[in-house]
Amino acid sequence: MQKDKWQLLPSCSKEAEGLDIIFTCDGAASVGQVGHEVAVKLTKEVEGARMCCLSAVAARSEPHVKIAQRARKLIVINGCQNRCASKILEQLNIKPTYEITIAKEGVNKQPTLDFDEADVERITKKIVEDVSKLPDRSE
Ligand code: SF4
Repeated sequence: MQKDKWQLLPSCSKEAEGLDIIFTCDGAASVGQVGHEVAVKLTKEVEGARMCCLSAVAARSEPHVKIAQRARKLIVINGCQNRCASKILEQLNIKPTYEITIAKEGVNKQPTLDFDEADVERITKKIVEDVSKLPDRSE
């Protein structure tokens, strides 16, 4: 895609209170890659949803920890039952609004970076439906 057609995203640090922030483990396996693609799809297609840098939170980058604390809703996507993304937030006592584990949603963990687009569609839809029923953290 040409650079002038790129979709610019809202600033996580300036607008966290008005955003549903998404953290995903981005694991190097089928389930991690499905989670990554789901986060990208939510960011590109759902108003107010915005993927943010989980590695920066794990590295204790202060602005990123604050984004996690300030987010309107906090959505966490784990690839498998190791729950690496959730554990990073638990270590900081930050409670997500919503957590999901791709390996429990009918996707097998396999040593591949390839995945089925239908799984991405299905799980994205589920997250949108589930999260729409949850209150903002400030409520
Ligand atoms: S949750 Fe599973 S897929 Fe994700 S980084 Fe951890 S071990 Fe890898």
